[in-house]
Amino acid sequence: MDARVLQAFQDAAGHWVPLEDLQAAASRRIAEVTNTEAGLVTAGCAASLTLGAAAILAGDDLGRMERLPNCAGFPCEFVVAREHRSGYDHAVRAAGARLVEVGFNEIVSNAGVRRTEAWEYAEAFGPETAGVFYVQGADMQPPLAEVVAVAHERGLPVLVDAAGALPPRKNLTAISETGADLVAFSGGKGVRGPQSTGILCGRSELIASAALQMLDMDDHWDLWDPPSKLINKRTLPGLPRHGIGRSLKVSKEEIVALLTALELFVSGAYDDGLPRYRAMLETVVSVLSGSAAECRIREPADADCWPVLQIVVDEATLGKTAFNVCRALRAGSPAVYVGHGELASGRLIVNPVCLDDEQAARLGERLREELS
Ligand SMILES: *Cc1c(COP(=O)(O)O)cnc(C)c1O
Repeated sequence: MDARVLQAFQDAAGHWVPLEDLQAAASRRIAEVTNTEAGLVTAGCAASLTLGAAAILAGDDLGRMERLPNCAGFPCEFVVAREHRSGYDHAVRAAGARLVEVGFNEIVSNAGVRRTEAWEYAEAFGPETAGVFYVQGADMQPPLAEVVAVAHERGLPVLVDAAGALPPRKNLTAISETGADLVAFSGGKGVRGPQSTGILCGRSELIASAALQMLDMDDHWDLWDPPSKLINKRTLPGLPRHGIGRSLKVSKEEIVALLTALELFVSGAYDDGLPRYRAMLETVVSVLSGSAAECRIREPADADCWPVLQIVVDEATLGKTAFNVCRALRAGSPAVYVGHGELASGRLIVNPVCLDDEQAARLGERLREELS
């Protein structure tokens, strides 16, 4: 977190505010920067997914809110591409949703040339369908806009997991501009807010449902006065009790810190760090010259993203696998955690985003020790 984010967290601790008022203010600002109707600060993108699914499942029905995650008697199926499934979809299922898979990825299974296609979603829609779950990524198929089109033809909402889609900044608006009904972002990734924060943004009636199911509802109906832009009391038959999202609460400090981080992110303040990230990676590359590894700096796809360093371990010369190098780095002092998504291909990945210059120098030394 930037020092300004930490300061905002501390300052917020000294003030009193009804949380629904603070969330309503957050909603206005999130809506502006994402070009959506409304937003909510959540306890992480995974929490956004649970709340988003709960909003789609229950809508403004207080009885359904009370029963979640039990969905007996109302539609609860979310159609999802088989290749979009991951451990994170537990967060959608936690609300009560049942996932219905469509499509194949015949390229990965080495059995063909095609991936999931939009018509396959349409074929899976039926009376039990509540919505569509889509995971945003660099190379996702089918394109989100096509999925939104087939879903909206049947009046079904689309919930998008865009946890890691920021930066680039353009994704703040580009994803919702496909017409997706709810978009979930992490607050603790590229936005660099508290790790325990996220964003849910989209259609105002769905955000209202999510807010009702997350906020503390311990009040008297006659006294309860939520801000109408976030929750329209006049349309409600009564005051729901705590909803399924009550376990996912956020503090005023977290809300203010996330909003501060979002301002920095939106204004481009983090771009100041980009030349430094590159310089740190170049330092590591020069420290590793002559070792049993080949370094390459991978350029980012967008100007407001940062490069990462790919280190191909010469496993034959070194007599150690990349997996073993990774283990030794974790066990050393200081413990070093490199990107471990490509170990099977003999590659270590270094992401510079949270390093300072001194740490980068230590990192270079530790890598050199393990790769020499
Ligand atoms: C990181 C991630 C999440 C969870 O985000 P948190 O903010 O940590 O809750 C969800 N989905 C995907 C695809 C992610 O990469």
